[in-house]
Amino acid sequence: MSGVLNVLAAITDSQWEAWHDPLTKAFSQAGLSVNLAREIAPKHVDYILYTPTGWLKDFTPYVNARAVLSLWAGVERIIDNESLTQPLTRMVDPGLREGMRDYVTGHVLRAHLGMDADICRTDSLWQPHIPPLARNRRVAMLGLGELGAFCATALAVQGFSVLGWSNSAKDLPGITSFAGGEGLQKVLRQAEIVVLLLPLTGKTENILNRETLALLPKGAVVINPGRGALIDDDALLVALDKGQVGHATLDVFRTEPLPHDHPFWGHPQVTVTPHIASETRPETASLVVAENIRRAEAGEELLYLVDRSVGY
Ligand code: NAP
Repeated sequence: MSGVLNVLAAITDSQWEAWHDPLTKAFSQAGLSVNLAREIAPKHVDYILYTPTGWLKDFTPYVNARAVLSLWAGVERIIDNESLTQPLTRMVDPGLREGMRDYVTGHVLRAHLGMDADICRTDSLWQPHIPPLARNRRVAMLGLGELGAFCATALAVQGFSVLGWSNSAKDLPGITSFAGGEGLQKVLRQAEIVVLLLPLTGKTENILNRETLALLPKGAVVINPGRGALIDDDALLVALDKGQVGHATLDVFRTEPLPHDHPFWGHPQVTVTPHIASETRPETASLVVAENIRRAEAGEELLYLVDRSVGY
């Protein structure tokens, strides 16, 4: 292992405040001697910590950087950056997984139990809605990666009848797995609740569109904590207005923050959450960053390498 490593944190002021101490602790625990800073002469930088909200757009001057480590799970805003020639890793973090599980199971249960009808009452009408048991509710998970598989498994443990869809079919306990175009049709035709945890790529953009939304059982619920552009906004609005989609809970949008005049705001069948489904947690994620730098220095393979040929 070399001497002191220069790790450039190309992150915002508030991210620096949140990440500095956990990173410093994690580097020390991993036995790494690190100069962690927000300004380092580019040719001396060994590793770069990146977030899309940070200031770094041009990687050309970092000629000696051995890897770029994204602190975000989604890499769609960096993957096509031609100045980035170094290996790129994305964030997979236990805190991120657990946070997403809580968001997804919470919103699935809200839809499943019909909580809006039974809790948010403004009158004194006694009108019970008895939901089916979870075992009789079909939930589809589009994307069975680090987050999708974890959330789908939690839903299966809760008792839901879970269908999953991914690039390659999976063998996951309690989940009926599909792949490919035909697989998507089979999944959507059965999905009373559909959750999107796909990365945004050329192949997944607008995956929910006029045709695919029409496959859903009438009144299905859409929950999107993946990326905004996975859904064609106009097609979703039409589907909502026709009752084809009963409700949409959206955490991510094509433009964030969601513009004030966007029709999703105030739509009676839309719940907007401000990209809070799951945050990378510095305490746990710093351990992942430190482990990856330790691996790189030891000549071992990096964890969570992005495959640029497929876009995630
Ligand atoms: P991941 O591990 O890369 O998993 C991606 C999954 O999508 C995999 O199962 C993959 O299939 C599948 N997939 C990709 N392209 C596909 C295609 N064309 N057709 C069918 N399946 C396809 O990603 P992750 O860590 O689970 O994260 C998923 C996404 O969640 C991220 O990209 C990010 O956009 C979003 N996210 C949102 C938040 C938030 O707060 N809202 C937080 C974190 C992440 P294979 O398994 O066969 O490769």
